[in-house]
Amino acid sequence: MDKGFHSFGWYASKVSPHLPKKAFKPVPGRLLGGLAYLMITIAGMFAIGVYDLPFLANIAIAVVIGTSFASMGFLGHEILHGTVVKKVGLRNFLGAVFFFPLLTGPRLWRKWHNMTHHVHTQDEEKDPDAWLTKEQLDKKPALKIIYRLPFSVRAFFEFFSLSFTFTLHSVRMFFAYVKEFKPENRLAVWIQFLLPWVAWTGLVFFVGITNWVFMFLIPHLIANTIVMAYISTNHRLNPQVPVNDPLANTLSVTVPKWIDVLHFNFSYHTEHHLFPSMSSKYYPLVKGHIKDKWPGLYHEMPMSNALVALWKTPRVYYNGTELIDPRAELVYGSLGNGLDPQAIEPRSMDREDGIKQA
Ligand SMILES: [Zn+2]
Ligand SMILES: [Zn+2]
Repeated sequence: MDKGFHSFGWYASKVSPHLPKKAFKPVPGRLLGGLAYLMITIAGMFAIGVYDLPFLANIAIAVVIGTSFASMGFLGHEILHGTVVKKVGLRNFLGAVFFFPLLTGPRLWRKWHNMTHHVHTQDEEKDPDAWLTKEQLDKKPALKIIYRLPFSVRAFFEFFSLSFTFTLHSVRMFFAYVKEFKPENRLAVWIQFLLPWVAWTGLVFFVGITNWVFMFLIPHLIANTIVMAYISTNHRLNPQVPVNDPLANTLSVTVPKWIDVLHFNFSYHTEHHLFPSMSSKYYPLVKGHIKDKWPGLYHEMPMSNALVALWKTPRVYYNGTELIDPRAELVYGSLGNGLDPQAIEPRSMDREDGIKQA
């Protein structure tokens, strides 16, 4: 089988000549969307705090705030890639504002996401967002206990945990990376981490616990779920390949057009890995060129199918291109390596695998 992998730069160099010049310029107009979300959030919080609304009305407002939080996070992601404004100070300030509801600071985010995830995507050691391999799991007896649970129970908890995974992972990333910043920058990283936590938890003393649950806690869990629905499907059905090849190691999901508008085209993740410094406004254009040039290599599926496939497959990598359920000793393919999301069929781990792995 021909497995000629290419880096994201290689693909980008093939697509760039076909794109208009404006595609490489920042798009400050994205901030209008951000402003709308900010106003909706503030208005919603006022409504909860000032009026004695019925329970269901508060829930409805919390859902609106939560979806706004998620969209602000998508915009913050764009801003911190430098695709909205060019001035570094303004970029970091706006990034901080739009990541504030997700309790993440701009310096940490750029290190974790721009400088590490994008550069080392799906590298089992270096990508902080990559899932465990069988070898790594074997060294973590505490984690192995989770894999003793029946598959469906584990899948249920995995999906349930999406409602707080982003925040949990962000805290983990802070403690993993804070030491790597230069001593003179460390204070800023600490402040950017603590400020949103202090502000959002401090809010409870001003508005009371019930209002706080509607103003922050429920929206925060909803925002986590929305951003994780994308993040968990971006790479986790793909193999870990020896070259950071976005066509092999990334999946673009598809969602209805109006959701793409609300979420700043965050579904175009393969396109994003080819051109992280390009405004997502132009990703539909990039998608057309990718599908034209490499139709057999590009992975794309509706978000709902990707989530179902995620539910049905285990999250431990096995020899890079497969996923393994260590308890049931069942091996599943990954995208491009035998995984058919419509008909997921595991094979049992045979003797040969045992030998390969020993
Ligand atoms: Zn990614
Ligand atoms: Zn990115």
